[in-house]
Amino acid sequence: MKTIMVIADGLGGRPGDTEQGTCLEVARTPTLDKLAERGSVGLMNPIKPGIRPGSDTAHLSLFGYDPYKYYTGRGVFEAAGIGMELSDSDVSFRTNFATIDTNENIVDRRAGRIASHQGELEDALADLHSEKYPKVKIRFKHSTEHRGALSISGKELGDDLSPTDPHELEIPIPESRGRDKESEKTADILNEVTKQAREILEEHPVNQKRVEEGKLPANAILSRGAAKYPDIPSIEETYGITASVIAAGALYIGVAKVIGMEYIPVEGATGTVESNIINKAKTALEELNRGKDLVFVHFKGTDNASHDHNAKAKIEFIEKIDQTFAWFDDNIDWSETHLSFAGDHTTPIQYGDHVAEPVPVLIVGPNVKLDTVNEFNEYSCVKGGLKVFNGQLLPVTLSYSNKLKKFGA
Ligand SMILES: [Zn+2]
Repeated sequence: MKTIMVIADGLGGRPGDTEQGTCLEVARTPTLDKLAERGSVGLMNPIKPGIRPGSDTAHLSLFGYDPYKYYTGRGVFEAAGIGMELSDSDVSFRTNFATIDTNENIVDRRAGRIASHQGELEDALADLHSEKYPKVKIRFKHSTEHRGALSISGKELGDDLSPTDPHELEIPIPESRGRDKESEKTADILNEVTKQAREILEEHPVNQKRVEEGKLPANAILSRGAAKYPDIPSIEETYGITASVIAAGALYIGVAKVIGMEYIPVEGATGTVESNIINKAKTALEELNRGKDLVFVHFKGTDNASHDHNAKAKIEFIEKIDQTFAWFDDNIDWSETHLSFAGDHTTPIQYGDHVAEPVPVLIVGPNVKLDTVNEFNEYSCVKGGLKVFNGQLLPVTLSYSNKLKKFGA
């Protein structure tokens, strides 16, 4: 038995998303409706009722891991997601290239969404180090646009420290402060490294050229989401299955990698509404044919459109997902495959950020109890056979393929 778990980020909506209802209600989704008819649907609180999930904590919960037990912060997932090799001596951060003006104030947290030459800036930061703690190792890696990750490796480090990214403009970079002895040491190192990076980047020819061209220089690094490597069992230890992840966003790749999934890059996968998601579906089936038990596929466009308050883009992306499911339907071997589909949280168009409300969920495949619902949206799913449950989408799906260990005798 094989499993494909598909998550459309921020899929859930509210009745006021459009004049005709939620984006999922308005979108034409003949295949999702057909799959709802053949399977079972319901609603899912990504973590539990009344908790507004981050995407990282929501995904942990969907994979069956208690985020209150295992979540240390986003930094470790961002760093793992862009390919940094991490161990339990690392404290990792998500970083932004940012622009600082002549008064040392932050004027842009994304350095004008710098789109080229980040590799040269990364090279210039290869020798970042701590004068105070010379044995500590510092690594910086950029990913897309202004994004990147920083990792501090050494003994007696902590991750309970304040960010140097204030999420505010027209103020200087704040000093990080630790809340215990180990985290104080880590904050000291972070402050030292932030100053060093500031000096190196200010003088860098790439930035001098950007200024000449009227662009914002990437002359500082802001860090947030400090996180030690979590002590978390792998998906193989937990369920006895092997798994691959197909996603474009570093955070999702990172969560999946930290629990032991293999990352499979896909051409044309961008993590935006333009992403080639049919290619993702094709790669998912290739992974199952290659012998993997589970493929986790992540689509990000729904959340991007929701954060941008763009109902039209969200509807169009949901229709694109529906077409991708049509390809799945034609090509999956339904005698031995379970497909589950849900959002990782609700992101309403007007509010433009994650809320605590439950998301619609769908499971199709052998042994799945049928219900009478033949439409897939926030309303129809209320009447589904899966009722309302909390997180745990993966183990709920794996039950149908007899893959769960028994609790008790
Ligand atoms: Zn999300």
